[in-house]
Amino acid sequence: NTNMIMIGMVSMVLLLGFAMVFRNIRAEMQLAQTKSDFVSNVSHEIRTPLSLISMFAETLMLGRVTTETRKKEYYEIIVKETGRLTNIVNKILNFSQIEANKKTYHLESVLLNDIVREVLHTYSFHLENKGFTYKVHFTDDLPNMMADTESVMEAIINLLDNAIKYSPDTKHLDISTERMEQWVVVAVKDQGVGIEEKKLKQIFDKFYRVTQGDIYNTQGAGLGLSIVKHIMEAHGGQISVESEPGKGSTFKLMFPILVKK
Ligand code: ADP
Repeated sequence: NTNMIMIGMVSMVLLLGFAMVFRNIRAEMQLAQTKSDFVSNVSHEIRTPLSLISMFAETLMLGRVTTETRKKEYYEIIVKETGRLTNIVNKILNFSQIEANKKTYHLESVLLNDIVREVLHTYSFHLENKGFTYKVHFTDDLPNMMADTESVMEAIINLLDNAIKYSPDTKHLDISTERMEQWVVVAVKDQGVGIEEKKLKQIFDKFYRVTQGDIYNTQGAGLGLSIVKHIMEAHGGQISVESEPGKGSTFKLMFPILVKK
């Protein structure tokens, strides 16, 4: 009888062991797949601007463009695509800094409205260029917060980039600041493709992308939101999302207010 119990227990332990090993192998395989998807996504993202740059530069070099207007157009494309390349490379560098625990933050007492204003100062041009309209609603007299201005700007820009990327039809954004209990909050609302509820948790994981089929075949490396999440954690803050497929998404960055002692 004791033997039977022993055998039973040993088999249980063995089974559990197998289950764990199997789960590990599956997790490893999944990670390998995600990594290889990442490499192919990044390569794809880099290849498109590169081939445009080389094509337009070569056409110019060979003297095939005769009118000044055309030339200007081609130079503009080269500048724009170079900017896109810089963006991608910056994102990857930023991400690798985070992964290596080397990203540093210089926190100081700042006003969220000022940061949002600064972002829009440079970004509104980009929004208009992409055919977007937008409304801004600032809540006045928000309390100060402790933040690294550069990083917060980067987080907001990441949200705006996504809002543009995932709004193929209705090109309108609402950007607002408000106070919610102990947080000061900036919200970016779009009327784009939205995100299925079951995928909402994963979108903040590194390398994760929703593959929505050909209609929404956007480019990306799945780094943006994981960088935003890291920035928010470094500020003791939070990121939240509400979304409905086909209707749009609202991303909120929540920063703890600075309590004066
Ligand atoms: P990327 O945009 O490079 O794929 P992100 O980490 O920024 O990477 O986003 C992860 C995923 O979350 C995206 O692939 C996309 O499916 C989804 N997503 C992010 N922002 C939005 C948005 N505003 N509307 C719809 N889907 C979004």
